[in-house]
Amino acid sequence: MIIVMKPHAAKESVNNICSFLKGRGFDTHLSTGEERTIIGVIGDKSKLADVGFEQMEGVDKITHITESYKLVNKAFHPEPTIIKFDNGVEIGGNKIVVMAGPCAVENQEMITKAAKSVHEAGAEFLRGGAYKPRTSPYSFQGLEEDGLKLMYNAKKEAGMLMVTEVIDKESLEAALNYTDILQIGARNMQNFKLLRAVGKTNKPVLLKRGLSATIDEWLNAAEYIMAEGNENVMLCERGIRTYETTTRNTLDLSAIPVLKNRTHLPVIVDPSHGTGKNIYVPSMAKAAVAAGADGLIIEVHPTPEKAMSDGDQSLNLNEFSDLMVQLKGIAQIIGRSL
Ligand code: PEP
Ligand code: MN
Repeated sequence: MIIVMKPHAAKESVNNICSFLKGRGFDTHLSTGEERTIIGVIGDKSKLADVGFEQMEGVDKITHITESYKLVNKAFHPEPTIIKFDNGVEIGGNKIVVMAGPCAVENQEMITKAAKSVHEAGAEFLRGGAYKPRTSPYSFQGLEEDGLKLMYNAKKEAGMLMVTEVIDKESLEAALNYTDILQIGARNMQNFKLLRAVGKTNKPVLLKRGLSATIDEWLNAAEYIMAEGNENVMLCERGIRTYETTTRNTLDLSAIPVLKNRTHLPVIVDPSHGTGKNIYVPSMAKAAVAAGADGLIIEVHPTPEKAMSDGDQSLNLNEFSDLMVQLKGIAQIIGRSL
């Protein structure tokens, strides 16, 4: 249930309602917009059936959220969430952000080279995996904490931020010392313990869509993170499994407008895992920007043919810079920057 306050209602009215609800054993979450405050009430609303909220000072109306996700719901937080970083970069605002880099961190030379080049082309975040959840246990599993250190050196040298995947408690504890965004991979989208653990941190989280997850399941996964107090969550569409095998996954671009209609969280698109082939990446990256994505995460490798993972879907440095020029043009047409 949400209590929508009247425009510019007094702070005291908001506080009174919150204390009343607390006294009845309910948790409240405030969404403070420029004009109005919205109070989200989590708990069994049948226990409040006797209360005339509409008669209380400052209350405009009561709305019942029927979906199981509440904090993630646009009804609770009508304005878009903007995630802010120390260096002034924002995700979810007018400027579209790009995260780029290799699938996995392999060595210092390649990650630094990739970082400098993608940053020069306009990417604000370096992507790279140090803990790799691979389909086969015999594939390269990542350099773990050594990989985080190499990536940290590279992002510092290039003057950018980084995003890297965490897969469990140990990798989360290590990554907190190095990364700016914690990535939860598709295979862990419903690892509820891990979601709760990243929800207890104050680092922004990029939550990838599960391999076969519905949008509702994905939004509920985001709710797990937000319910622990971490409000800086972004959703990443990375393709879903369908009967089509020509591409690695089927990139669900319709998820962008659906999410924009249901949630206030920023939407990022990964055309690399979404297609699995580098020749398809530019088209889908451009389509994602045109469809309203707030950002892209793209695999880029200095020598894709020698990559230790996902070389087939990685752009080389020149292909990435060329794509960035085209993306800027698309962003401009829809009134955004990149
Ligand atoms: C990745 O980003 O390298 C990755 C493993 O992605 P996903 O979880 O979407 O498969
Ligand atoms: Mn990859």
